[in-house]
Amino acid sequence: MIPQTTGETFAEKVLAWFGQHGRKDLPWQHAPTPYRVWVSEIMLQQTQVTTVIPYYQRFMQRFPAVRTLADAPLDDILQHWEGLGYYSRARNLHKAAQIIRDQHDGQFPTDMTGMEALPGIGRSTAGAILSLSHDQAHAILDGNVKRVLSRYHAVAGWPGEPRILQQLWQYAEQHLPATRNADYTQAMMDMGATLCTRSKPACLLCPLQTGCKAFQQGKPQDYPGKRPKKDLPEKTAIALLLRNPDGEILLQKRPPSGIWGGLWSFPEFAGEPGMADWLQQTCGQNHIISQRLPTLTHTFSHYRLHLQPLQVDFDTQAARIMEGDGWLWYKAGTKLNGGLSAAVRQFFRNT
Ligand code: SF4
Repeated sequence: MIPQTTGETFAEKVLAWFGQHGRKDLPWQHAPTPYRVWVSEIMLQQTQVTTVIPYYQRFMQRFPAVRTLADAPLDDILQHWEGLGYYSRARNLHKAAQIIRDQHDGQFPTDMTGMEALPGIGRSTAGAILSLSHDQAHAILDGNVKRVLSRYHAVAGWPGEPRILQQLWQYAEQHLPATRNADYTQAMMDMGATLCTRSKPACLLCPLQTGCKAFQQGKPQDYPGKRPKKDLPEKTAIALLLRNPDGEILLQKRPPSGIWGGLWSFPEFAGEPGMADWLQQTCGQNHIISQRLPTLTHTFSHYRLHLQPLQVDFDTQAARIMEGDGWLWYKAGTKLNGGLSAAVRQFFRNT
């Protein structure tokens, strides 16, 4: 049993706080169907609520139902995702929508097993969708909830470690209320986002203060434990900026999986000789680098990429060779089918 000092349970305190302070007017809280909740949950992974809201509204306008999403071209979805990052989330949304259309007659599964079988839906997201849209009793453990629980129970260690994660899941399950699961799930997310924040937890306003071990120790910020430090490997590459006489830049569609999968990006090469060979073979033309532009740096979860953009100007005839599927002559600010990679967006922001 969880020790309580006031007689009220953990969940009762959280629910009482929610009644007064919880968020009840977020766009996905109106008509919380599994589809609407699912899209919001995926967008909210690694992204703040205030950033997500306009993306969510545009997305829902264009893809109002799971079938619309399933039937849409991936490029269209990636375009609506542009700027949110972690594009595998958008690709998985598309795949999952097609599975729901083709294998579930357009209806979301209503149990954890069916939900977790869909691409991009893990235990916490499945629990959140079923809880928020069907009021089912499932625990969630997103970043906010991990923080609240690891502080409340003073669970030391990094939640990425299986042993710590398992312990946090146990606590999450243990605290579930007998009723009002949707409110409780929302309340836990809200408490982590607005009260028990990463660097400045508002412990004096917190309904859990009396039972919170981290507060009693006077060091809530020590929890959860940090990921053990590991230096990210550095990689360098050449980004070719081929410019035609109209000032358009050549973009290449990246393969569907891997970094920036399915997005438009600059052709990339390991080094200048490889780029020169490619230009020679593709266009039969010797190239002259007209400009070396400032390096673009992008940090991925597993490495840091430094791209050296080299601008090469082409005449119209040579430029015409690069037409067709997978290639695009692009001018900043014009409409295109699909999304742009972070490198391209960073480049056009800087120029
Ligand atoms: S008392 Fe402070 S550290 Fe503990 S749960 Fe509340 S806000 Fe978080």
